[in-house]
Amino acid sequence: MIEVGILSLQGDVSEHVFAMKSAMKKMALSGEVVEVKTKDQLKVLNGLIIPGGESTTQGKLISKYGLGIEIKKLVDREVPIMGTCAGLILLGEDNRNSLGLMNIKVRRNAFGRQRESFEADLRIPKLGKKLYHAVFIRAPVIKEVGDDVEILAEYNGRIVMAQQDKLIAVAFHPELTPDLRIHRYFLGLLKK
Ligand code: GLN
Repeated sequence: MIEVGILSLQGDVSEHVFAMKSAMKKMALSGEVVEVKTKDQLKVLNGLIIPGGESTTQGKLISKYGLGIEIKKLVDREVPIMGTCAGLILLGEDNRNSLGLMNIKVRRNAFGRQRESFEADLRIPKLGKKLYHAVFIRAPVIKEVGDDVEILAEYNGRIVMAQQDKLIAVAFHPELTPDLRIHRYFLGLLKK
């Protein structure tokens, strides 16, 4: 049985819980999806999602509760971690409160004020030919990637999804659309 955690300090947690449960069901995986707030809960996970929300707030709470070290231990154990939107910012290396888990440089609120939120159809070859309808909310972009980072999607020439080993950074909100392919792709990493 697998246990996937959604980091539940702040942000859109319940949407990720719902999407993850649905994806597990579709893949006939037996397991649990838990809202994670403590070090002990982190220790036993087989996968972790860091959700969208406010990266500054989440980062402060991660350090207040001393969770960063346990999250880093998950990376050492090759436990998959996916950060979406604010979660992507936390996975990166160059914002205040970032955990520096991935070799990516990130620009917060990269689409500016007038376009704080928009939707776009993306080509994500790893997910198949069908375009992926993505919801961007005050989204970041990845400005630079290290050699060990694979770019999975771009929007207007800007990197919006990338992977480094079992770490996935997503600039948009896969939990807000009924398309479960990103959650399923993430669960696919658990089994390998
Ligand atoms: N702009 C937010 C931040 O910097 C992220 C937005 C989101 O997660 N929807 O934390």
